[in-house]
Amino acid sequence: MISVTVYGGANEIGGNKILVESEDTRVMLDFGRRMGYFNEFFDEFLQPRSKSGIRDYVKLGVLPELDGIYRDFFVNMFSEFPPERVLDEDEFPRAKDYWKCDLKSYDEYTEKEGKPYLDAVFVSHAHFDHIQDISYLSPKIPVYCTEETKLLAKVVTDVSKGGSDHEFFEYGDYEIALKGENYRTLFPGSPEVNKKKYDDTPLKKHDHLDIRFTQRKDIAEERDYMPMRYGEELRLGDIRIKTIKTDHSVPGSCAFVLKEEKNILYTGDIRFHGDEDKTLEHFINQIDSKIDVLIIEGTRIDSERRVTEKDVKDELTMKFQDIEKLIFVDFPWKDLQRFNTVLKASKENGRILVVDPRLAYMLFRFHLKYPSKYPDPRQLDNVAVYKRRQNSMLYSMSDYKKIDAGYLHDWGRNSAKSDENILRIKDKIDQGTATQEEELAWSLAVDHIENGVPAFEIKDSPEKYVLMINFWRMNELFDLSGGNGDLKGSHYVKCMCEPFNEEMQVDENKLINWLDRFKIGYDFTVNEDGNKILERSHVSGHASRPELKEMVKRLLPGVIIPIHTTNPREFVNIASEIESETGHSTEVIIPEEGVRYDL
Ligand SMILES: [Zn+2]
Repeated sequence: MISVTVYGGANEIGGNKILVESEDTRVMLDFGRRMGYFNEFFDEFLQPRSKSGIRDYVKLGVLPELDGIYRDFFVNMFSEFPPERVLDEDEFPRAKDYWKCDLKSYDEYTEKEGKPYLDAVFVSHAHFDHIQDISYLSPKIPVYCTEETKLLAKVVTDVSKGGSDHEFFEYGDYEIALKGENYRTLFPGSPEVNKKKYDDTPLKKHDHLDIRFTQRKDIAEERDYMPMRYGEELRLGDIRIKTIKTDHSVPGSCAFVLKEEKNILYTGDIRFHGDEDKTLEHFINQIDSKIDVLIIEGTRIDSERRVTEKDVKDELTMKFQDIEKLIFVDFPWKDLQRFNTVLKASKENGRILVVDPRLAYMLFRFHLKYPSKYPDPRQLDNVAVYKRRQNSMLYSMSDYKKIDAGYLHDWGRNSAKSDENILRIKDKIDQGTATQEEELAWSLAVDHIENGVPAFEIKDSPEKYVLMINFWRMNELFDLSGGNGDLKGSHYVKCMCEPFNEEMQVDENKLINWLDRFKIGYDFTVNEDGNKILERSHVSGHASRPELKEMVKRLLPGVIIPIHTTNPREFVNIASEIESETGHSTEVIIPEEGVRYDL
């Protein structure tokens, strides 16, 4: 007997959290952030209160109310430091309800029951809507995914801002401690929540405090990520789980087949984009058992459009030919396939592709791990990293901390230890005290700073370059434009998905304002409200309706559970079309959040 409960991804795009339970095993398929739902409440200046642990999230339904899965500290954060130590006798009873969390943490549950509630999490790929909320799970729960997903999770952690909701790869300990007597505050001695201080470096000024304000990344612990190879099958209790290679817009994506009395296929996010190992055929061929239950994504269930990555390449190559001056290209930095597409189109037009430091860092990390599959980005023809003007605004070497320096973006937060300044690393190298990682960091930083492309070079020969840019880098246009402040003859090409929420639409309108102000060309249509909509050279990371239907038709499952879509009902139509074509009938379960379906 096996059952499925969808805690995220029901009737919404992303945020997949799907619990599969058998007689003696429980696994979670993805544990992503419900971005859409989350953004229904939060906003730029209304952010979650990270120091209230998981309480706010659970109350709101961003996180499921489940015993036995969450990190102990986030459930019991005030137990070591009871509020009655701060509040007086009269206040405490009235204020205390919010300190109490009725959930049992992983540790409490496991101790009481003698075994954990959840045996493992299986992650299909490293997009936030599939991975982010792992931050709140106990690090004792193993996370299974492909090796590339693990690596990408690390890269994303390295370049992200940090904070308790970004601890899906590394995590640190928190504690509540008193502010030291000499702490410069109106109320020394009052408690504060912070990340635990670990290091035993000699005390410096202010270090006599119980607390430290930033956690040192180099002592953060890694979660228990267990890499699986494509085709590998493992057994957890009475469920066997097999990893199936899929194509999506990030490296390392996979689907899972769970085999028990009934076999379940969970697609993750999936597309079929034509290249040799990225066809529906290739996907189906990996599945060696009859599928009884298909948990299928339906992001693009309303779209008939079938485009391949090669179509995008051809379109870009053509488009680039007609652009006289600088070409701006906007594409997601985690999409290595898209990077290769844009690079090919750039090369065919004899241009150099100048990329974002985050992409350069990702390429470099993938190169270190898979040297034969991913070349050293420093050696790639027609690729360079953009060098921004900052701090002194003079391109002075000391303007660049490691976190700004191309191939090692954010390096300072982890591998090269706590020192962020590349010049001080150089000192260590001169003194012979640098670590290997620091030497690598230095050589990369120098490469970036010496060979990075500054705006003035692009301004002088715009026809030589394709520049990767996005809305948040629009103030680079000041440096990229000439004396008269325009970039006439340049063109902006969008290579990513359409805005799917209001916030993105607002940003796109602002982006258009920038393009207009600097006289940069772009292709657009006008919608019924009179708004300009940018045209895109893009293939989505998701299969179209005809492809989804074809997949169902090939698998002929007994049950379909549509997830990751706002139109799950369309699968009922697909099922009835298939029934009239083949005579095979399929039950469609439109999942409701938190409802358990016994299969
Ligand atoms: Zn997704």
